[in-house]
Amino acid sequence: MKLTFKGGIHPYEGKELTMDKDVIEYVPKGDMVYPLSQHIGAPAKAVVKKGDRVLVGQLIAEAGGFVSANIHSSVSGTVKAVEPRLTASGSKVNSIVIENDNQFEKIEYVKNEKPLAELTKEEILEAIKNAGVVGMGGAGFPTNVKLSPKNADEIDYIIVNASECEPYLTSDYRRLLDETDKVIEGLRLALAIFPKAKGIIAVEDNKPKAIQKLKEVLGNDPDIKVNSMKTKYPEGAERQLIYANTGRYINSKMLPADAGCIVHNVDTVYSICEAVRQGKPLIQRLVTVTGDAITEPCNYLVRIGTSFAELIEAAGGFLQDPEKIIAGGPMMGKAIYDLNIPVTKSSSAILCMTKDEVSEYEPSNCIRCGRCVEVCPGRVMPNKLATLAEQGDLEEFQKLNGMECCECGCCSYVCPAKRHLTQTIAGTRKAILANRKK
Ligand code: SF4
Ligand code: SF4
Repeated sequence: MKLTFKGGIHPYEGKELTMDKDVIEYVPKGDMVYPLSQHIGAPAKAVVKKGDRVLVGQLIAEAGGFVSANIHSSVSGTVKAVEPRLTASGSKVNSIVIENDNQFEKIEYVKNEKPLAELTKEEILEAIKNAGVVGMGGAGFPTNVKLSPKNADEIDYIIVNASECEPYLTSDYRRLLDETDKVIEGLRLALAIFPKAKGIIAVEDNKPKAIQKLKEVLGNDPDIKVNSMKTKYPEGAERQLIYANTGRYINSKMLPADAGCIVHNVDTVYSICEAVRQGKPLIQRLVTVTGDAITEPCNYLVRIGTSFAELIEAAGGFLQDPEKIIAGGPMMGKAIYDLNIPVTKSSSAILCMTKDEVSEYEPSNCIRCGRCVEVCPGRVMPNKLATLAEQGDLEEFQKLNGMECCECGCCSYVCPAKRHLTQTIAGTRKAILANRKK
């Protein structure tokens, strides 16, 4: 039986545009922008000022608290400003702006070739922290913090989320195929922190080449197995992924560690390997630039801080005027209206589409077809929740488990009345969370 979860949808995949193309390293030309908040937690604190010369790999902002992350320059050049700049979130964030001198002079990285058994847990965590590694699947949670749960003895699994279930995205797939050894080594380093944890690399079955390559490299490894999961969106959502691979269930009040699991994205485990083995900070990532409005869709190896505008130009520019540009995938990404925003540690894709099907239709009344309930992986009733949200009935919304929604977008996708279900539910969830913080 295929590993999966209840609910979910099968949207057009769009992965054929980029999945079989070689990764291209993009060399940035213009100014680089490094938002001090590009991770969950406290913003980083700038340790450089206007006029300072910096090198590739140099620390330019240090973690501003326990849950925070260091930021490093990905180019050599001169600090031009520390000022608010627009980001993919739609808001301006205090950022370090560096004038790129196009020399790419770098600091020396200190390698660590010790056998795994001789590396201490503290050494591994320190290297990850120093390198500013954060969750690169979108959440941006500092990785050293995630790898330091209170119940380290109770962690049974580290799951590498290689499902890449969002349509169009293929950067994780390319990493798996092109850097298989480093992805596996990153997972081994993470496993070395926990006394009894085993590794799972969870891949959707629409990536047979990646599954085959991982199995070939791992052989009969006693500590790491490769799981082939049913291709279905949102197979890579944390709760659905944990359920599909371990049968364990978590709700919105629990962390994966409460169910004995830690989940990392593919590029994150790759970056753990780079940080510990090469002493290399997180200054580059893979970004899928794609969609039917792009001339040459491809995966790019991009220096953090590069502007979206430069990357689109690198991909041959627009084939046709895009109606919608999204930072991330079509289901959970954010629509953007200005291309002068930087690639951050969690920028997985730029998707440019000639048609915006969502805004083409006006929402109409619910016809009680039940499709939204059928596909909801959060096991809630999106139709009722959206109505309660529209009525402002926050109490009943919570009673009907509205907080269990993971904002996957499946309900909006299938709704024949084109109700803005996800958007409405997500807005109410945010309001409730903000009230709880007060
Ligand atoms: S209610 Fe939330 S979890 Fe359920 S389908 Fe809609 S967006 Fe996804
Ligand atoms: S899918 Fe749309 S029309 Fe059908 S029950 Fe849900 S909200 Fe109503």
